[in-house]
Amino acid sequence: MEITTKLISKDFDHGNVGSKPVKTINNPVYRASTILFESHLDMEMAGKGKYSGIYYGTNRLPNQRELEEQINILEQSYATRIFPSGISAIRHTLLAFLKSGDHILVCDNVYGPTKFFCKHFLPKFNITTDFIPSNADNISDYIKKETKLIFIESPGSITFEIQNIGEIVKTAKAHNIMTVIDNTWATPLFCRPISLGIDVCIESITKYISGNSDLLMGSVSVSEKYFQEFEKYYSLMGICNSSHDCYSSLKGLKTLELRLKKHEETAFFLASWLETLPEIHQVLHPALPSHKEHHLWKEYFTGSSGLFGIVFKDEFSQEQIAKFADSLSLFKMGFSWGGYKSLISTGKIKRDLKSEFHDKNIVRFSAGLEDKNDLKNDIKQAITKMKNI
Ligand SMILES: *Cc1c(COP(=O)(O)O)cnc(C)c1O
Repeated sequence: MEITTKLISKDFDHGNVGSKPVKTINNPVYRASTILFESHLDMEMAGKGKYSGIYYGTNRLPNQRELEEQINILEQSYATRIFPSGISAIRHTLLAFLKSGDHILVCDNVYGPTKFFCKHFLPKFNITTDFIPSNADNISDYIKKETKLIFIESPGSITFEIQNIGEIVKTAKAHNIMTVIDNTWATPLFCRPISLGIDVCIESITKYISGNSDLLMGSVSVSEKYFQEFEKYYSLMGICNSSHDCYSSLKGLKTLELRLKKHEETAFFLASWLETLPEIHQVLHPALPSHKEHHLWKEYFTGSSGLFGIVFKDEFSQEQIAKFADSLSLFKMGFSWGGYKSLISTGKIKRDLKSEFHDKNIVRFSAGLEDKNDLKNDIKQAITKMKNI
């Protein structure tokens, strides 16, 4: 059975009314702090940590458990846990597995707030970070005896470099180092890192999985080897999530494949067209044959999503790029992406290592679900306005 069929095929049984079962397509939303026990013995067992059911509202209510189970199916992982945002999932993963004295490797093109955490928070716990080029041929050159973990993001935030997941996994395994990936761009539909040998796979559910720009959530899916350690940390930290947001994310999952294919089609259409324009220096989209790591994208991904970037030619000033952004009407300006409304974000890229993108102004597009020709016309008129100042 195909994965989307599997996700959709489930329904929910709420017991009987009269002699007839009440079944619904969606899960009810559970709201609870207190969970009632059947007996004194059950309460006593809960106190001892030996109760097999849910003992309190902090203990992952049924909507969260259902979302975890469905994402786990998609990721083909051993288990999944939900977090209150994507960045919270990333930070907690690092804290769960690292200890004082550890060293980690993080790809230089990683999501900004992930980098900030590694640079400015982890040193407080005597954990050091080295950044690695996104296309590092030889990761083993960067490994020290204290290296505990390699964190990658493929494609990288804003600049869209694809990492050689297979090579990184091979080297990491040879050195007994764990691997973590931020897979938000591809979602588990277009890349399955766990089946490629990655140990921990993180998604920002906020983006495509929930799909409506109205909630924040993240998931962490782990392989069997790392489950016990992760679960111990998770249950200790009191991480709780809104049942309502889990419910909404579950609805998002059912239509993810459909939406993602449309995002993919529109983004590829726009990227291919933008590449032909004389005003554009470079289009950053992994599915374009001109993309530097296009061969790696073909090897590890089964599709491309709706997020890509462009670099205007140097002759265009900062002021003109601002005019371009301000002139768009269908593409709105805002952080985040993955929803039905098209968005852009702009800004100068900063890199810790030498990079062709350092200090370059990149315009990042999140192609939404509007008609692709309307989006094209919107960009076209904004380029005309940009040139006229
Ligand atoms: C948005 C984003 C995150 C963080 O997700 P939030 O749910 O917004 O905290 C992490 N990684 C990538 C690549 C992202 O784009």
